[in-house]
Amino acid sequence: AKTLGRSRYEFFNVELRMRLQRRLRLEQDLRDAVRRGRLWAAYQPVVDLRTNETVAVEGLLRWTHPVHGPVSPTEFIPMAEESDLINLLGAHVLRETTKEVAARRADGIDVDLKINLSTRQLDDASLVLAIEAALASTGLPPSALCLEITESALMRDAALAGETLAALRNLGVRLAIDDFGTGYSSLAQLHKLTLDTLKIDRSFVTGLGESADAEAIVTSIIAMAHAVNLTVVAEGVETEKQLEVLKALDCDQAQGYYFGKPQPAHKLWP
Ligand code: C2E
Ligand code: CA
Ligand code: CA
Ligand code: CA
Repeated sequence: AKTLGRSRYEFFNVELRMRLQRRLRLEQDLRDAVRRGRLWAAYQPVVDLRTNETVAVEGLLRWTHPVHGPVSPTEFIPMAEESDLINLLGAHVLRETTKEVAARRADGIDVDLKINLSTRQLDDASLVLAIEAALASTGLPPSALCLEITESALMRDAALAGETLAALRNLGVRLAIDDFGTGYSSLAQLHKLTLDTLKIDRSFVTGLGESADAEAIVTSIIAMAHAVNLTVVAEGVETEKQLEVLKALDCDQAQGYYFGKPQPAHKLWP
């Protein structure tokens, strides 16, 4: 038992060290990638369920590592959020996506832009100025930009976020609560945040048409959101069936592989 204990200890030690090393190296590489402009945004359509038209695109950050290949944002965003790197990433996404969408709008493609914000960015005094500058330099109207913040992050940092959110609201940009249903916000909190849009988390959308529970949850989220005048977007729609249920439940907009995966701008708008 003693030898087993020791070898197990060493196993974990090696495993932990390898993970830490990959992590440290990735962090270095990410910093490098930001500096060299190697990060880019993919765009996923958001469809209006009454007109079936694409009314917006969500810009999602992409990173192809020279050795490891594509690294998921679910891995590198949390890593970036632990340092100031997230502000660099955020500034990059903001500049790239506003420029792209403003250019497409000038070509007659009438879509709004949604991008994701970390609460750590709300902490950054220069965020509001950076957004103002991006809008001014591209000519994108403030009302065409929607900033998405996850429910869990908003609830965790609600006090801290309030002031910046108010400043953003004054600019005229839209605000959305993302991944809704995974946190524990109340109707009162939602109302106080003066948001425009609520995105229902994919985990609830996935069960539509299969699970009565999922349908009950989505029904009540939509009713609650509409009661406080929020536009509701369902994310992660993959099947016709899910789409039909969402339409029947009076959901406003939807996004998901059923309509299109996130793709580079030149593929989405050839
Ligand atoms: P999110 O904001 O909830 O974005 C939706 C995610 O669901 C995206 O994953 C998208 O590719 C994926 N998705 C969309 N439709 C479907 C579907 O029908 N089925 C399935 N299975 N997945 C679908 P992605 O691109 O890997 O991004 C993951 C998360 O990383 C995002 O979740 C967002 O929280 C974060 N993220 C991405 N880009 C940025 C960014 O520029 N800034 C910040 N702060 N976070 C970002
Ligand atoms: Ca999002
Ligand atoms: Ca989401
Ligand atoms: Ca998500």
